[in-house]
Amino acid sequence: MTLLRYSYTIFVMDLSLNDITTVNKEVLLGFWKIHILHHAAEGPVVGQWMLRELRRHGYDVSPGTLYPMLKRMESHGWLRSEVDPERGPKAPRSYYLTDKGRVVLVRVEEQLGELRRELKEGS
Ligand SMILES: [Zn+2]
Repeated sequence: MTLLRYSYTIFVMDLSLNDITTVNKEVLLGFWKIHILHHAAEGPVVGQWMLRELRRHGYDVSPGTLYPMLKRMESHGWLRSEVDPERGPKAPRSYYLTDKGRVVLVRVEEQLGELRRELKEGS
């Protein structure tokens, strides 16, 4: 198990910028969506805050990635959004978790827990 962890570290250190972009597209995009669902479960989220939050966690996410992602999540029915018209044309769009999004989050959390256990156990 120790050996496995060690080889993971070496692998991560050897990634080129191109490799990292591929990992982002293939894997981390899903993590970011889970992260968004998680925070939307706590209360409405806005894009700017979510960008800062993802960066705080070490993810280098651009607005050009985040905003289309939020739109797609909304089109799947996981989020709904609204803009407060009182706040003028520059008002931020707030995203709320829907009932369907909550079901998706619970399901993914279960699967993530299962995967986490397997990775830990190395079985
Ligand atoms: Zn977070």
